[in-house]
Amino acid sequence: MLIRDARPWGGDPSDITVTDGLISAIAPSSSAGARNVDVVEGRDRILLPSFSDAHIHLDSNRLGLPFRPHTAGTADAPASLRQLIDNDRANWRAAETSMAERTGTALGLAIARGGTRFRSYAQVDADCGLERLEAVLAAKQQHRDRAEVTVMAFPQAGILLEPGVPALLKQALRSGADVIGGLDPCGLDRDPVRHLDVVFGLAEKYQVPVDIHLHERGTLGAFTIELIAERTAALGMQGRVTLSHAFALGTSNDDATVGALIELLAAQDISVATVAPSGSGVLPIRRLTEAGVRVGLGQDGMRDYWSPYGNADLLDRTWQLAFTQGFRPDELIEYCVAVATVGGRSVIDPSAPRVTSIADRPGLTIGDPADLVLVPGDSVTAALMDRGTDRTVIRAGTVVADRLELLPAG
Ligand SMILES: [Zn+2]
Repeated sequence: MLIRDARPWGGDPSDITVTDGLISAIAPSSSAGARNVDVVEGRDRILLPSFSDAHIHLDSNRLGLPFRPHTAGTADAPASLRQLIDNDRANWRAAETSMAERTGTALGLAIARGGTRFRSYAQVDADCGLERLEAVLAAKQQHRDRAEVTVMAFPQAGILLEPGVPALLKQALRSGADVIGGLDPCGLDRDPVRHLDVVFGLAEKYQVPVDIHLHERGTLGAFTIELIAERTAALGMQGRVTLSHAFALGTSNDDATVGALIELLAAQDISVATVAPSGSGVLPIRRLTEAGVRVGLGQDGMRDYWSPYGNADLLDRTWQLAFTQGFRPDELIEYCVAVATVGGRSVIDPSAPRVTSIADRPGLTIGDPADLVLVPGDSVTAALMDRGTDRTVIRAGTVVADRLELLPAG
């Protein structure tokens, strides 16, 4: 394949040759005709590594369905975590389409917008059993030629509060889940030792990475992060543990505490996935990156029973990341795009190059995978501000979507 007249990371117009799914040559644009290759017309668009979504709940969305009022909380009484969990549990089965249709739709939309690599949550609990996991696995299968999806068995309703959850998680790992999840070991299960025993026990037994959803803030969240780092060190799981949200790294802890936690994460190569929240959950992503911590971005749930936000477009979420970080200089805006693309990839695959400074723009050199997206814009910053629809998505050297529409697979 030849991608003609595209600007890698917004640089000079180039022709990019792809061989066997990898970038094999990059040369200044020329008008010379290409022979015996598929040509993708860059039309002076910007070429970026495709998005790698490090935190998406494919089984929690109502994309394409009628909009539904939020029922978990009110204007004066926002829902607690428990109320959000219960509201989802009470309503998800009543949706207009099957769970498998919804997971497939959401993944298709996210691919068409520029994503080719995903770490998806799949809720496993005493109520849904493996039903939602099976739907996420079905979506992965449906789009297997367009995207690489790793699936997490995620105990959204806790591990210890209802009977049978550890056994269900085990069954999930035997049924195709690639990652074991955890959630607020102190805040929800109120027993971090037993919670982490189950999570890390399964990780060791099935040799899978760990990803812990951590809403805990302040001292409690810092304590949990220390416990997770201890377990990571004890099991030699460096590079195979992720903290999602990790609000304790935001402003609920003082600067020195956050600095000590970042050092712990760097020492154990524990990565961080954020969904770009506002308020005290805004993470010091630049500080994390510069300490060597892998940072990725995710879409989270989308227009679901938890919240009306989210549209399967990681470019939109990248705008939100830049906005909530308060970034204005181009270098920092582009850095957010690096986090959403190669940053997320390094969370999912720790052997991939990581973003180590705000100036780092890996992912588009010879030998890199031809997992790419073309976006319109005068510069990378402009592309993020305008978020145009004239996008072309390439996975392993094959065009999988154009102008926000999927192409036939295979
Ligand atoms: Zn989440």
